[in-house]
Amino acid sequence: MNEQQKPVALLVEDEAQIRRFVREALEDEGWQVIEAGNCRQGLMAAGTRQPDLVVLDLGLPDGDGVALITDLRQWSRAAVIVLSARTLESEKVRALDAGADDYLTKPFGVAELMARVRSALRRQRRVQAPEDNGSVVRFGTVAIDLQGHGVTRDGHGVRLAPTEFKLLAALARNAGRVVSNPQLLREVWGQQSVNSPHYLRIYMGHLRRKLEDDPAQPKYLITETGVGYRLAIPV
Ligand code: CA
Repeated sequence: MNEQQKPVALLVEDEAQIRRFVREALEDEGWQVIEAGNCRQGLMAAGTRQPDLVVLDLGLPDGDGVALITDLRQWSRAAVIVLSARTLESEKVRALDAGADDYLTKPFGVAELMARVRSALRRQRRVQAPEDNGSVVRFGTVAIDLQGHGVTRDGHGVRLAPTEFKLLAALARNAGRVVSNPQLLREVWGQQSVNSPHYLRIYMGHLRRKLEDDPAQPKYLITETGVGYRLAIPV
């Protein structure tokens, strides 16, 4: 593959060591990588190179990475993965709500990074070509028909309350990606419930009991503590 045909990744990170590590991982998987060391350079490179993927550190010397995501999202559908050294869950929620597809908390490994990249790209393709998407999302022996509003497990229908289905559908439409607590609450219960995360705990409990083999150790309906929930499906 020559350079022109390779998908383009923009890496915005001020720590040289992490930049080198991420660059090598992406190049090994066939990406052409552009580097930027701060927000300003990052935005400029994004505008001129139109990357397919942006990997972005939140703590940059000239500003907050979340501001870059907000700006980028006005004109770009690039998959965005945030790197965060911070343990502050609220930062990750802000980044997701600004339009990031996913995040990794430092330190992270190559396998984890590439799994997140693949799942973000899959989601990006679904957004760009919804007609190819098929409206059925599968995990384990469960199949969710988003258009027909039906769920089966081992081929048998599963009865879900309307709110349970809405929550499951919100996760299924974003399969592989973390959906933040405020986003789920807004989508399923409405804006007035955005500060009631216990709704999510209760309804996720219902879904796990109906859909997981071991509801106490879910394999698919995953809690991202303090941030949100993820429907983990194999990439
Ligand atoms: Ca940094």
